[in-house]
Amino acid sequence: MAQMKKDNTFQWPEKYQVAVCLTYDDGLDSHLDFAVPALDKHNLKGSFYCTGNSRSLYNRMEDWRSIVKNGHELGNHSLFHPCDGERFDWVRSEYDLNTYTIDQIKAELFTANSLLKAVDGKTERTFAYNCSDYTAGGESFVDGIRPLFFAARSDGDIPDSMNDVDVHFMPSWGVNEPTGAEMIAYVEEARKRGTIAIFMFHNVGGGYLNVSAEAHQELLEYLNINRDKIWTDTFMNVMRYVKKHQE
Ligand SMILES: [Zn+2]
Repeated sequence: MAQMKKDNTFQWPEKYQVAVCLTYDDGLDSHLDFAVPALDKHNLKGSFYCTGNSRSLYNRMEDWRSIVKNGHELGNHSLFHPCDGERFDWVRSEYDLNTYTIDQIKAELFTANSLLKAVDGKTERTFAYNCSDYTAGGESFVDGIRPLFFAARSDGDIPDSMNDVDVHFMPSWGVNEPTGAEMIAYVEEARKRGTIAIFMFHNVGGGYLNVSAEAHQELLEYLNINRDKIWTDTFMNVMRYVKKHQE
């Protein structure tokens, strides 16, 4: 009897069954005050997508610099957080992607790379799409910004296979008040598929698009207990492996 050809030939390193990326958007004080200490407690590494105009980045630049020395990732999240003003009413008209050009978003993201390089000295960078929006003036800038980044995170479902994912348009789950159990179930679903669970966090421990400190803690404890089977690392490190091992 002919056996069905397994299309998922991709293998994670060592005995890992799934990869997990913990990503935190918008450069918030709660990342430094709650997320990083919780990660450090379990020796887990996260990716922090910081806007150029983040107040926290301005006020606490040394703290942001030191988390990178500690193995966390500082990622590009633009300078001004432009988004699609037709989807979100809080978007100011001058930062509405509908009024941007491709050249304008490319220039903004390049400048944000320069700023982050001044903070942490890194020359390779990953990007998190603001609001997961990827058009400027109605035109996709996904291809236009590929040369600027090693990889990029968008949103979307857990992939079924790692062989054909686009590392410049990776899916993630933008959580909003999730329970610890829901987040663990999400990792388990990705483990079943042998692929990847990418969390998009904003505030930790209070604020918009929040994850409670308790739920966040519950997820980290679970990742730590299962660390021989679940590979939790920065988006950069995981994408480096994926790029190298895609067919
Ligand atoms: Zn954002």
